[in-house]
Amino acid sequence: MPMMYPILLTSTWALAATHLHDAPLWMTVGIPLLFTLVAVTRVVYWWKLRDVDPSPQEAHRALLRTNRLAIVIAVAFTGWSLLLFPYGDAYSRSHVAFYMAITVIACIFCLMHLRSAALMVTVIVNGAFIAFFASTGEPTFIAIAINIALVSIAMLAILSINYRDFARMVNARTEARRKEEAQARLLHMIDDMPVAVMTVEPETFRINYANETSKTLMRSIEHLLPIKADELVGTCIDVFHKHPEHQRRLLSDPANLPHNARITLGSEVIELKVSAVMGADGSYLGPMLSWAIVTKEVEIQARIRQLAHYDALTGLANRITFRERLEERIAIPGNPVEVLFIDLDGFKLVNDSKGHRVGDELLRKVAQRLCEVCDDDEMMIGRLGGDEFAVLAPCDGAAAAEQLAARIIKAISAPYALEHVHQVQIGASVGIALTPMHGVSGEALLARADMALYAAKAAGKGTYRLFSEEMEARVQERVRLEARLHAALQANEGLFVFYQPIVDVQTNRITAREALVRWHHPEHGWISPREFIPVAEQSGLIDLLGEFVLNRACRDALEWQDDVRVAVNISAVQLGKGTIPSVVLAALVSSGLSPSRLEVEVTETALLEDERDAIADLRQLRGLGVRVALDDFGTGYSSLAHLRAFPFDKIKIDGSFVRDALRRPDCAAVVRAVAQIGKRLGVTTVAEGVETEAQLRRMRKEGCTEVQGFLHGAPKPSARDAAIVEELNRSAVRRATA
Ligand code: C2E
Ligand code: MG
Ligand code: MG
Repeated sequence: MPMMYPILLTSTWALAATHLHDAPLWMTVGIPLLFTLVAVTRVVYWWKLRDVDPSPQEAHRALLRTNRLAIVIAVAFTGWSLLLFPYGDAYSRSHVAFYMAITVIACIFCLMHLRSAALMVTVIVNGAFIAFFASTGEPTFIAIAINIALVSIAMLAILSINYRDFARMVNARTEARRKEEAQARLLHMIDDMPVAVMTVEPETFRINYANETSKTLMRSIEHLLPIKADELVGTCIDVFHKHPEHQRRLLSDPANLPHNARITLGSEVIELKVSAVMGADGSYLGPMLSWAIVTKEVEIQARIRQLAHYDALTGLANRITFRERLEERIAIPGNPVEVLFIDLDGFKLVNDSKGHRVGDELLRKVAQRLCEVCDDDEMMIGRLGGDEFAVLAPCDGAAAAEQLAARIIKAISAPYALEHVHQVQIGASVGIALTPMHGVSGEALLARADMALYAAKAAGKGTYRLFSEEMEARVQERVRLEARLHAALQANEGLFVFYQPIVDVQTNRITAREALVRWHHPEHGWISPREFIPVAEQSGLIDLLGEFVLNRACRDALEWQDDVRVAVNISAVQLGKGTIPSVVLAALVSSGLSPSRLEVEVTETALLEDERDAIADLRQLRGLGVRVALDDFGTGYSSLAHLRAFPFDKIKIDGSFVRDALRRPDCAAVVRAVAQIGKRLGVTTVAEGVETEAQLRRMRKEGCTEVQGFLHGAPKPSARDAAIVEELNRSAVRRATA
């Protein structure tokens, strides 16, 4: 636009010069000077602002200003030239016409980028021009006026086309700049992203961009790379790969992407995600690699996997893994397998008495021996629980499985020399189940091997058993029994407590009565405690049952005329949990029975399991003033150490010795020995199961202080229950005879 002013001025001065002698001076010099002043001011103003980038508002204001100025200038210059027209000769007048026509064309060109101003200038100057010259009546001027009118129309057409293009160009440039800015922002963001990103030229496989994170990460593993981190851009990615050909093939086709890979680079693991960068037209611009060093994560994952699948102590497969492998192996057709379920006998004792460090070492040794016995590649060993192991092996028939079980038992039963303990010995029981005979699923096979193991344990431990159908029937019967007992306990139906007298051999007087639980089932009649107590113990129902007996016994004892003690059996399972003292106390408090009238009977097994905790419970009971008796002495472990571990008030010699004492000298000797120990310790000794006078005489002779048995009375219901029990028995007889 500034170019417009020099054109205007030179033309103006040229016109002024040709009229200098004809027109007044204010017209030929005064007005051109004024024009020059305005034009120069305007040009200077432009010059000053040439480097200022106006805001859109400023630009808009400036354009409005220019519009207004264009009107003023157009009017001023047109007015001046028309004022000059009357002066001078025909040449001079033609000069005026020429001046107006040529400057307006030049101005329109110069104002091309401000269409409104250009339009106004065109309308004002050409309007005046055409009107003025047409009115002169001079054919030449009329021709010029027509000519100018036509030219103006053409000019306006050109102007609007150019202006449209110009506007488009400006918009395009603005858009381009906006895009550029957005791109720069994006690039900046990518550079600062915590993810390492690189892009690769698809033809040359050279890295053409690597963000800052990439470079920083690369620096940390520079020692493992054939290049420097700062040389990353421009490097061909072939240097990172052992088989560049494969990589090239993969990355050259976007159809292969996205592609994830893990690369091991020395000691580091790198995770790589490659995606395709596509152009707006769908063309493949090249692969983008985002990557991270995941060495730590991989290590942790591996550790978690190891922990999840293998036993940390022995390194053997854990239960989950063993089960999985078992299922896998069973799934292979024509591939019979056997499962040997192994449980250590006496491990708990070692673990509790010698400490868990010794226990752990022992378990590791057991695992070692198992691995030695089962060293076949086809075999698999798992640790399924605390002291439970299992072996999965190809099946060669029952006999071979039994031989393997025998070898395992023999290996485990050999003495162990441990770090801190000179010699330890344990045993093992094994249950065996085979496919397809005993099951075709891992779950069934394991369950049946477990049943066989249970049978092996019941058969006296240190032995193996092959699963048989009766075992399953027995297990199912136990489950049914448990459900019935649960129901009976909840409904408080059919459960009674019977009492059997315990008699002093010297005075023949009753010293105590033992409370013995009884259960009558409406369909199955009387069920022996020898049958349902073990079920209650295993199912956890024993706590409820024990509480029932304790409460009933305490209340019943208060009704007795003779004020003798009541003896209540406490199961091993109830002891050692720290709960029994409060249960006993609650029974005493709620019944009002004196603690000195209560005696609890515990068997040796209670002391075998958690000796320390069991004894702590017994001490507390003793602290309440309750007496404690050791029941069934002579069966099981019969360790004299137990007599030393806790000062029992009474030892009850198991009925089996009493029964055989008359025939077998060894049994008599046990009775005698226990009686003597009792005498020495000042402890009462009771002979259980005395049925005959001969047995009574013998027991008295051997030194037992008290006896209990059918001779002096079988267990009988309390006075309160007598009638109900009698009715139950009568109806049972009726049913039997019917
Ligand atoms: P135990 O504590 O040794 O009880 C003595 C068992 O011998 C009782 O068997 C009793 O009926 C029986 N008996 C008594 N005199 C004679 C006799 O002269 N000859 C023979 N052959 N047996 C005699 P029962 O009542 O069947 O109880 C068996 C076992 O069940 C008990 O042995 C005891 O360990 C357990 N038991 C019974 N009641 C309870 C209870 O309330 N709680 C707990 N935890 N165990 C109980
Ligand atoms: Mg007893
Ligand atoms: Mg007993």
